[in-house]
Amino acid sequence: MKIVVILLCCLVVGIIIVLFATRKAQSPVGKPCSICGAESRYGYSAHAEEDADKIKPMCLKHLISQLEEDYTSFAGRAVVIQPADGPPCYVFQPVKEWHESFKDSRIPDDVLSLLAKMETKCHDCGQTANYLWVESAGLTGDNFGKTLDNGVSETLLRHNPKPISLCAKCCVKRISRDLETKHLTYLEVCAPKGKVDGFVIPMGY
Ligand SMILES: [Zn+2]
Ligand SMILES: [Zn+2]
Repeated sequence: MKIVVILLCCLVVGIIIVLFATRKAQSPVGKPCSICGAESRYGYSAHAEEDADKIKPMCLKHLISQLEEDYTSFAGRAVVIQPADGPPCYVFQPVKEWHESFKDSRIPDDVLSLLAKMETKCHDCGQTANYLWVESAGLTGDNFGKTLDNGVSETLLRHNPKPISLCAKCCVKRISRDLETKHLTYLEVCAPKGKVDGFVIPMGY
């Protein structure tokens, strides 16, 4: 009987080790940056929820220059929630697709009404603004689902400053500052693409 218990324990430990090892092998974090070879702290993908083999490992410097390019060429508008510690990903979700997948979620309507009220000029430099920056104090790896379900106004904006309008450059500057000063790392980062309005949020799948 004892032997059976010991064998079962070994089996469970073995399975945990294998699961952990394969997860770690898939993570882009710690791999060489796909551009310069330095240790990467981020995975970059073209779209949210990309297959693991399409996520490129990137160091902070190369992630930021990629985000500058993406945010500048985006032709729509987006609510951008400040990077937060906890959720494993920091991704763009187009409002339309999100609504089609999650009919009861209130974030699409909330994002569109916030975007409708945004200022036309960047708060930091005065250029044309197409991003609305929302601070993320209180957002964690456990409660990002509430923001996705109930929207930003009902959750984050209850205890964060009023959102501010930003141009692409100033928006990426703020993202970069947070990634650096908070020592954040994300398995997947993707930026706004195309021309459909949406939102950027720290989240998990
Ligand atoms: Zn690099
Ligand atoms: Zn600006």
